[in-house]
Amino acid sequence: MATERTLSIIKPDGVKNGHIGHVVSIFEDAGLKIAAMKMVVLTRKQAEGFYAEHSERGFFGELCDFMTSGPVVLMVLEGEDAIKRNRDLMGDTDPAEAASGTIRKLFAASKGENTAHGSDKPESAARELAYFFGAAFEIC
Ligand code: ATP
Ligand code: MG
Repeated sequence: MATERTLSIIKPDGVKNGHIGHVVSIFEDAGLKIAAMKMVVLTRKQAEGFYAEHSERGFFGELCDFMTSGPVVLMVLEGEDAIKRNRDLMGDTDPAEAASGTIRKLFAASKGENTAHGSDKPESAARELAYFFGAAFEIC
């Protein structure tokens, strides 16, 4: 299994509800390293560009409203099989379907406001890391 880098976002609900430390602990306890981290408020343009693959979906406007509603924490996670392991630690998109102990099961209120984002495959990780952290993280 290769060492990978992946993008994690603690979404506005996770920051607003005071879960930054707990989410970071879940990653670190699982052996994923925080290779870079910054807190920002996304612009509308950044949110729309980031979720461009969903631009034709009915929830796109609501998703971008939510993602720009307050600060988010952007993180580069690094470790063996980091992309899949981050997704496993996050749990299902819908917290009602997420396994116990996962970030979304622990903290998320709904499918729309679901606390965490994680890149879903190597190509997404490369694009998303470059999008928020620049060329240094394009190769994962
Ligand atoms: P993310 O990309 O944020 O890590 P994901 O990969 O689990 O989540 P996607 O299918 O990529 O899920 O959807 C992106 C985001 O859009 C979801 O995390 C969720 O916040 C929102 N979303 C997806 N489906 C719905 C829906 N049916 N209703 C409302 N919001 C949705
Ligand atoms: Mg996704």
